[in-house]
Amino acid sequence: MNIFIAVDMEGATGVTHHDQLMPDGKTYSAACKLLTGDVNAVIEGILATEPQCSVIVGDGHGIMRNVILEQLHPMAELVVGPAAPQNKPLCQLEGISASADMLFMVGYHSRAGYPNGLLAHTYVGSLIRNFRLNRAAVGEITVNAAIAASFGATVGLVSGNSDLAEEAENILGENGEFVCVKSTLGPTAAICKTPAKTADLLREAAIRAVVKFKEGKLKSVEPAKVTIMEVETYRRESVDRALTATGLYRTGECSFETSDKNAAEAFRRIWSGIARALDEPAAWLR
Ligand SMILES: [Zn+2]
Repeated sequence: MNIFIAVDMEGATGVTHHDQLMPDGKTYSAACKLLTGDVNAVIEGILATEPQCSVIVGDGHGIMRNVILEQLHPMAELVVGPAAPQNKPLCQLEGISASADMLFMVGYHSRAGYPNGLLAHTYVGSLIRNFRLNRAAVGEITVNAAIAASFGATVGLVSGNSDLAEEAENILGENGEFVCVKSTLGPTAAICKTPAKTADLLREAAIRAVVKFKEGKLKSVEPAKVTIMEVETYRRESVDRALTATGLYRTGECSFETSDKNAAEAFRRIWSGIARALDEPAAWLR
């Protein structure tokens, strides 16, 4: 069995504030330990049930060098490095392949604009007002699930903040595992479970997910016949820059889209547009 674990940070145990999310934050290193603990607990659960399972962990937050390699479970491999299109055109899912049976997503948060969501955003908070998949506003977990489906992988487990539950349950169906590591109070506060407690919850949920997959009880995801991905930005100039990437079309003053039979291919194109949109001219040319 092969499992890909996509990892974000805003929905990791104990993470509630921007100071924990980037290397210049005073509490960032401690948050990296908490995040690595969440990932290890999930890997322990997988290997307790399926000792020969191949596990690839994709570090998918910010600079994408957050999971502590020397503390990671030795049976796993780690995808490290930023999601520039020439590096990681599938962003958080770079490294997944057609051999993946399941996708687990650890440390996730609700989408941009989710009311009172804890650290809520979609990929790039300063750029993206809405990300739409087949016309519906969705968060990163739904986009990742669509990409995974195009590789034939089933989503078995999602962990994160309580305000992510609705979107997670929509992807997982009734038999998938959602692990809530903290109860959201607002954009930068939550009631947090301790790492010892969340490790138990994550380990047990991973065990159940693997067992249910083997029993054929997880919701099987049919790849969509056509995938339309649309990004709505805050500013018109962002779309002007995005459209210098190929295969993207303007759909409004502040929006652009692409479509493809294959969700992974659609994502690669929209991601290169997002990267171009972030490519600001030098200060003296503005
Ligand atoms: Zn993140």
